[in-house]
Amino acid sequence: MLPPPWTPPSTPAFAPTPDPLTPARDITHGHFEAGDQVMVIKGVAGGRLCGEAMRVVAPSWHTPTDEDGWRLRDPNGGAQTFITAHPRYLVHLSRRCPDCLIFQRAMEDHLLPKYAGHADAIIDCGWYTTTALGQLVHIADARSGR
Ligand SMILES: [Zn+2]
Repeated sequence: MLPPPWTPPSTPAFAPTPDPLTPARDITHGHFEAGDQVMVIKGVAGGRLCGEAMRVVAPSWHTPTDEDGWRLRDPNGGAQTFITAHPRYLVHLSRRCPDCLIFQRAMEDHLLPKYAGHADAIIDCGWYTTTALGQLVHIADARSGR
Protein backbone atom coordinates (compact mmCIF):
# COMPACT_ATOMS: atom_id res chain seq x y z
CA MET A 1 0.00 0.00 0.00
CA LEU A 2 1.20 3.49 -0.76
CA PRO A 3 1.26 5.74 2.28
CA PRO A 4 -0.78 8.91 2.04
CA PRO A 5 1.20 11.84 0.69
CA TRP A 6 2.58 13.54 3.68
CA THR A 7 5.06 16.29 4.21
CA PRO A 8 6.47 16.28 7.74
CA PRO A 9 5.22 19.23 9.80
CA SER A 10 8.58 19.83 11.41
CA THR A 11 12.11 19.92 10.12
CA PRO A 12 13.24 16.32 9.67
CA ALA A 13 16.47 15.00 11.07
CA PHE A 14 19.09 14.91 8.35
CA ALA A 15 20.53 11.41 8.16
CA PRO A 16 22.47 10.69 4.97
CA THR A 17 21.62 7.13 4.01
CA PRO A 18 22.72 5.10 1.00
CA ASP A 19 20.09 4.61 -1.68
CA PRO A 20 21.25 2.00 -4.19
CA LEU A 21 17.72 1.38 -5.45
CA THR A 22 16.65 4.62 -7.09
CA PRO A 23 19.72 4.94 -9.37
CA ALA A 24 19.24 1.33 -10.51
CA ARG A 25 15.53 1.60 -11.14
CA ASP A 26 14.43 0.76 -14.66
CA ILE A 27 11.40 2.87 -15.53
CA THR A 28 10.53 4.55 -18.80
CA HIS A 29 9.67 8.19 -19.34
CA GLY A 30 6.35 7.10 -20.81
CA HIS A 31 5.38 5.38 -17.58
CA PHE A 32 4.13 8.77 -16.40
CA GLU A 33 1.86 11.29 -18.03
CA ALA A 34 0.60 14.80 -17.36
CA GLY A 35 -1.91 14.87 -14.55
CA ASP A 36 -0.49 11.95 -12.58
CA GLN A 37 -0.13 12.36 -8.82
CA VAL A 38 3.33 11.21 -7.81
CA MET A 39 5.58 11.18 -4.80
CA VAL A 40 9.31 11.64 -4.43
CA ILE A 41 10.42 9.44 -1.54
CA LYS A 42 12.74 11.42 0.70
CA GLY A 43 12.92 9.55 3.98
CA VAL A 44 11.11 7.88 6.81
CA ALA A 45 8.52 9.21 9.24
CA GLY A 46 6.62 7.32 11.86
CA GLY A 47 7.98 4.01 10.66
CA ARG A 48 6.85 4.56 7.08
CA LEU A 49 8.27 6.07 3.94
CA CYS A 50 7.57 9.74 3.52
CA GLY A 51 8.12 12.20 0.75
CA GLU A 52 6.63 15.03 -1.23
CA ALA A 53 3.48 14.64 -3.26
CA MET A 54 3.49 16.45 -6.58
CA ARG A 55 1.59 16.55 -9.85
CA VAL A 56 3.09 15.77 -13.23
CA VAL A 57 2.68 18.79 -15.50
CA ALA A 58 4.54 18.28 -18.76
CA PRO A 59 7.57 16.64 -20.37
CA SER A 60 10.77 18.53 -19.61
CA TRP A 61 14.45 17.91 -20.24
CA HIS A 62 16.30 16.76 -17.10
CA THR A 63 19.66 18.43 -17.58
CA PRO A 64 21.58 16.69 -14.75
CA THR A 65 21.16 13.33 -16.50
CA ASP A 66 20.69 14.56 -20.09
CA GLU A 67 17.55 12.45 -20.31
CA ASP A 68 13.82 13.03 -20.67
CA GLY A 69 12.25 14.12 -17.42
CA TRP A 70 8.99 15.49 -16.13
CA ARG A 71 8.07 18.93 -14.95
CA LEU A 72 6.27 18.71 -11.61
CA ARG A 73 4.16 21.08 -9.59
CA ASP A 74 5.01 21.01 -5.89
CA PRO A 75 2.17 22.62 -3.91
CA ASN A 76 4.56 23.18 -0.99
CA GLY A 77 7.48 24.25 -3.15
CA GLY A 78 7.30 27.98 -2.45
CA ALA A 79 9.67 29.76 -4.79
CA GLN A 80 10.28 26.47 -6.56
CA THR A 81 6.73 25.42 -7.23
CA PHE A 82 7.84 23.86 -10.52
CA ILE A 83 10.75 21.48 -10.66
CA THR A 84 12.00 18.92 -13.19
CA ALA A 85 12.68 15.35 -12.10
CA HIS A 86 13.93 12.15 -13.68
CA PRO A 87 11.22 9.46 -14.03
CA ARG A 88 13.08 7.07 -11.72
CA TYR A 89 12.62 9.52 -8.83
CA LEU A 90 8.83 9.22 -9.01
CA VAL A 91 6.25 6.78 -7.69
CA HIS A 92 2.56 6.88 -8.57
CA LEU A 93 0.02 8.00 -6.01
CA SER A 94 -2.91 8.54 -8.33
CA ARG A 95 -3.49 4.92 -9.27
CA ARG A 96 -2.51 1.52 -8.06
CA CYS A 97 0.52 0.86 -10.14
CA PRO A 98 2.29 -2.51 -9.81
CA ASP A 99 5.64 -1.18 -11.01
CA CYS A 100 5.67 1.64 -8.50
CA LEU A 101 4.38 -0.57 -5.69
CA ILE A 102 7.20 -3.05 -6.26
CA PHE A 103 9.73 -0.24 -6.13
CA GLN A 104 8.16 1.24 -3.04
CA ARG A 105 8.16 -2.15 -1.32
CA ALA A 106 11.86 -2.53 -2.10
CA MET A 107 12.53 0.91 -0.62
CA GLU A 108 10.61 -0.05 2.50
CA ASP A 109 12.57 -3.28 2.87
CA HIS A 110 15.81 -1.35 2.44
CA LEU A 111 15.06 1.60 4.70
CA LEU A 112 12.58 0.80 7.40
CA PRO A 113 14.75 -1.75 9.23
CA LYS A 114 17.47 0.90 9.53
CA TYR A 115 15.13 3.10 11.54
CA ALA A 116 13.07 0.44 13.26
CA GLY A 117 14.12 1.75 16.67
CA HIS A 118 13.07 5.31 15.86
CA ALA A 119 9.36 4.95 15.26
CA ASP A 120 8.65 8.61 16.03
CA ALA A 121 11.57 10.06 14.14
CA ILE A 122 11.27 12.04 10.93
CA ILE A 123 14.30 11.26 8.81
CA ASP A 124 15.46 13.06 5.69
CA CYS A 125 17.83 10.64 3.99
CA GLY A 126 19.52 13.43 2.06
CA TRP A 127 19.15 12.03 -1.44
CA TYR A 128 17.81 15.05 -3.28
CA THR A 129 18.83 18.59 -3.96
CA THR A 130 17.19 21.15 -6.22
CA THR A 131 19.39 23.28 -8.45
CA ALA A 132 18.95 27.01 -8.95
CA LEU A 133 17.37 26.15 -12.31
CA GLY A 134 14.72 23.99 -10.71
CA GLN A 135 16.21 20.60 -11.49
CA LEU A 136 15.71 17.93 -8.86
CA VAL A 137 18.90 15.86 -8.61
CA HIS A 138 19.44 12.56 -6.85
CA ILE A 139 22.79 12.41 -5.10
CA ALA A 140 23.91 9.54 -7.35
CA ASP A 141 23.27 11.65 -10.47
CA ALA A 142 25.05 14.66 -9.00
CA ARG A 143 28.14 12.61 -8.24
CA SER A 144 28.32 11.23 -11.74
CA GLY A 145 29.26 14.71 -12.91
CA ARG A 146 26.68 14.85 -15.69
ZN1 LIG B 1 3.75 3.79 -11.64
